Amino acid sequence: MKKILSLASMLGSLLAAPVMAADELPLAIAIHGGAGTIEKSNMTPAREKAYRDKLEEALERGYGILEEGGSSLDAVTAAINVLENSPLFNAGRGAVYTYNGTHELDASLMDGRTRQAGAVAGVTRIGNPIDLARLVMEKSPFVMLAGEGAEEFARTQGMAMVDNRIFDTEQRRQQLQRAKERLDREANDQAAVDALPVPYRMGTVGAVALDRDGNIAAGTSTGGMTAKRYGRIGDSPVIGAGTFADNDSCAVSATGHGEYFIRFNVAADICARVQYQDKTVREAAEEVINGVLKPVGGTGGVIVLDARGDVALVFNTAGMYRGSRTSSQAASVAIFGE
Ligand code: ASP
Repeated sequence: MKKILSLASMLGSLLAAPVMAADELPLAIAIHGGAGTIEKSNMTPAREKAYRDKLEEALERGYGILEEGGSSLDAVTAAINVLENSPLFNAGRGAVYTYNGTHELDASLMDGRTRQAGAVAGVTRIGNPIDLARLVMEKSPFVMLAGEGAEEFARTQGMAMVDNRIFDTEQRRQQLQRAKERLDREANDQAAVDALPVPYRMGTVGAVALDRDGNIAAGTSTGGMTAKRYGRIGDSPVIGAGTFADNDSCAVSATGHGEYFIRFNVAADICARVQYQDKTVREAAEEVINGVLKPVGGTGGVIVLDARGDVALVFNTAGMYRGSRTSSQAASVAIFGE
């Protein structure tokens, strides 16, 4: 009898607990298209509109997947694909040039449910590096593959190889020209890198998302830094630096001066503050981007969200191409420090 009573009371309290319908569970996505000295005075209305339209398209593509019940990984990958396929951003089609006049692309992806991750660095023949990062995560026992080895793996997965020249754009070629003129004037490599203006690496793309199952994910894709050489790899493919996701803390995609983001372990540091210090995603991102990086000269920004659907877009540069949409907030995109 006692057993039956306690079973009945358990059932009663279960029924009394608020049960959320599937369409009430929070959904969220945020994207970025790079941070830097982006000022309204340097931008024509037509160019600004082109950026805004592409950011909106990426946001809608990703959010549409979430609304249909798709996974945060699918939403992140699809949103990044839209930006990789546009010559406006420094990723995929619009990738910057290396010192030698080619393009070397980096990308990474992390699943907050399992902490599985995949990354590729210095690939030259992959049209959508985020797709290869995903294959590394899902179809290989490794986390990060580089250069020709990564491409060999891509071939085993049936991925098409593209000609490196499909990433050529006139605007990026002119940036390389100007960067080389500066670099060749400087006395050493450090001075040369310091002399490069921020826009010469701007345009990295990334996305973070929360799906209906409460899982979060993060991804980042880039051409890196204009005139990079010696096989330089930035933070974007480095898990913990440019990309991080864990359901228990947050999902982060970063953009900025990669060397700083690697040394300060930016994405993982933000999530550690959320997890161990109970900071909100905004507090944690502000602390790291403005409190830690800014004083040492590390420029850039991050997009962050958690499994409750809280979103923060934080940067210490003049602007950051960015956008977000959640189940409680309409889609919005922005460029400048408004
Ligand atoms: N973080 C990228 C890199 O250092 C560049 C960027 O985001 O602007 O390769």
